[in-house]
Amino acid sequence: MKFIDEATITVKAGDGGNGCVSFRREKFIPFGGPDGGDGGDGGSVWLVGDEGLNTLADFRYQRRFDAQRGENGMGRQRTGASGEDLEIPVPVGTQVRDADTDEVLGDITRDGERLLVAQGGFHGLGNTRYKSSTNQAPRQSKPGTPGELRKLALELMVLADVGLLGLPNAGKSTLLARASAARPKIADYPFTTLIPQLGVVRIGPNQSFVMADIPGLIEGAAEGAGLGTRFLKHLARTRLLLHVVDVAPPDPEADPVADMQTALGELERHSDELAGRPRWIVLNKKELLDAEALEALIARVRDVAGNERPVFTISAATGDGVDALMQAVMRHVEAANQKPETTPTVTGGAGEDHA
Ligand code: GDP
Ligand code: MG
Repeated sequence: MKFIDEATITVKAGDGGNGCVSFRREKFIPFGGPDGGDGGDGGSVWLVGDEGLNTLADFRYQRRFDAQRGENGMGRQRTGASGEDLEIPVPVGTQVRDADTDEVLGDITRDGERLLVAQGGFHGLGNTRYKSSTNQAPRQSKPGTPGELRKLALELMVLADVGLLGLPNAGKSTLLARASAARPKIADYPFTTLIPQLGVVRIGPNQSFVMADIPGLIEGAAEGAGLGTRFLKHLARTRLLLHVVDVAPPDPEADPVADMQTALGELERHSDELAGRPRWIVLNKKELLDAEALEALIARVRDVAGNERPVFTISAATGDGVDALMQAVMRHVEAANQKPETTPTVTGGAGEDHA
């Protein structure tokens, strides 16, 4: 099973600057020779690996990238300035194809690795270049050549940074839909009954993470053992679990704190390691309780979960509290990415999956 984030962008390298036709005009030199300078080269477009990036989410906001063109040549043999190259940061692991021909242009496999995706145009020649013994006053010059224009298809295999845990009906799907900017494509998924839900949450430029529902642990328990275990591989990089709890379950007999314990028990049964990851409690549907009842519930949750475990209150339906939660999650993911060696691996590993 693979989760694939994708984006299509257009890159345009700068055109080369044109050569100039010009003649010296000075006092006492009635017929000045040619002095038109060459144009400058156009800037090229490069993709550069950046290990600080998790997803392709930024490319949904900016899809067109232009490098600078070269300046035209000028009189007095002045050469036009070259256009600057443009470097576009992409996550490490991005595969790059030409969207029109499907040709693979390359893979970005390391931080700082550069891939040329659009060659800048070459400079045109000024008329100075065409002077010869037989032509003392050439009026010829050459225009710069155009920079390459390309449509690129970017693909990135993603793993979940954040997992959503909770009983059915807690509001996990609603939260995912509310917070996410896009859905990664799910390739090769073998199960038709339980499709994991994934979303890319974008907080701002260069700030995004992947959040996944955890099916198969609880909702899919009846579908057969092992289903959840397979899915766990895709949570290998998970930095954080958000435990979503319905504060007002429809069943009047049900108690949110007991529900929370039930879901946690299921998780512990399936994966000790995942149960050992940082886990925040997200009390959802807050608008269904008045302030007093909510405070009382938070106090009971703290009694059970310990005082150091963060507890958030949100309404996935109205969006209340969701932004603040997602920003806190982003900070946590960024901090965890700074020290990847401290995160244990889920049994089964994060590698290729032939489930
Ligand atoms: P999941 O089973 O955990 O994925 O839960 P869903 O996201 O499917 O939500 C279950 C039900 O709760 C749906 O009818 C949602 O509309 C509803 N729901 C989700 N979030 C909220 C909320 O913040 N407030 C209220 N009142 N209903 C919500
Ligand atoms: Mg759901």
